[in-house]
Amino acid sequence: MQEQQRNGIRYLTFAGLSALAGVHHGIFTRHGGVSQGAFASLNVGRVDGEAPEHVVENRHRVAAALGGGPLVGVRQVHGNTVKVVTAEDVTAAPTPADALVTNVPGVLLMVQVADCQPVLLCDPVRKAVAAVHSGWRGSVANVVAVAVRALQDCYGTRPRDLVAGIGPSLGPCCGQFVHYRDEIPERLWPFRVGAHHFDFWAITRAQLSAAGLAPQRIETAGICTRCRTDTFYSYRAEGTTGRFAAVIGLAPDGDPAAPGGPGRTV
Ligand SMILES: [Zn+2]
Repeated sequence: MQEQQRNGIRYLTFAGLSALAGVHHGIFTRHGGVSQGAFASLNVGRVDGEAPEHVVENRHRVAAALGGGPLVGVRQVHGNTVKVVTAEDVTAAPTPADALVTNVPGVLLMVQVADCQPVLLCDPVRKAVAAVHSGWRGSVANVVAVAVRALQDCYGTRPRDLVAGIGPSLGPCCGQFVHYRDEIPERLWPFRVGAHHFDFWAITRAQLSAAGLAPQRIETAGICTRCRTDTFYSYRAEGTTGRFAAVIGLAPDGDPAAPGGPGRTV
């Protein structure tokens, strides 16, 4: 991934998505915000113990770093429901869902995570984007495939046109599921590494490939959040902690350039 800086906020970008014109995206770190203590500092999650006004300011900073525009999230529930975001939705209260799709320029889709996978998708042909929250329950529910299907149904997307990025999340080094026989269906057991660990990045790549994406267009950050609490929030490592943002949106009409630039490889 590449590191970018804008308005004092650091965020990471995927090479594949950065190469597309007219798309803004970023994986934000835990730095550059106003939250305190366990939530320091760029927490975008409305979690217990956090000051709501800090979340509002942090979300404003995230949106501003990507050129502004309304930031639309959902009430994430570890399922596989997709919210189709229209121009009218930008002022509505968040509804329960774990993926968002849109073709409205200027709207930024956000998922918030701390170990779960944030997956960003863009169809550069039909001009549509998706943001997906996929924890282990999302992997079991194959939420990424449901999001691809929504892009097909709503915008005529051909899956082979899609460019995808799998963001920082719990890696195979730390993805321990001692009770996997009860929690994870047997069809996913081939992704077990060692006695009790699972490679959920590989699961998502397989699910996206099965949904029709070209494997070479699927990029994996390869950064484990539990190993990198210096940069990201990790629920498994920290318990009480914040959520970092993964955001994607089509540039507003008349603004084809993505902010940032080539950046620095991290
Ligand atoms: Zn790890």
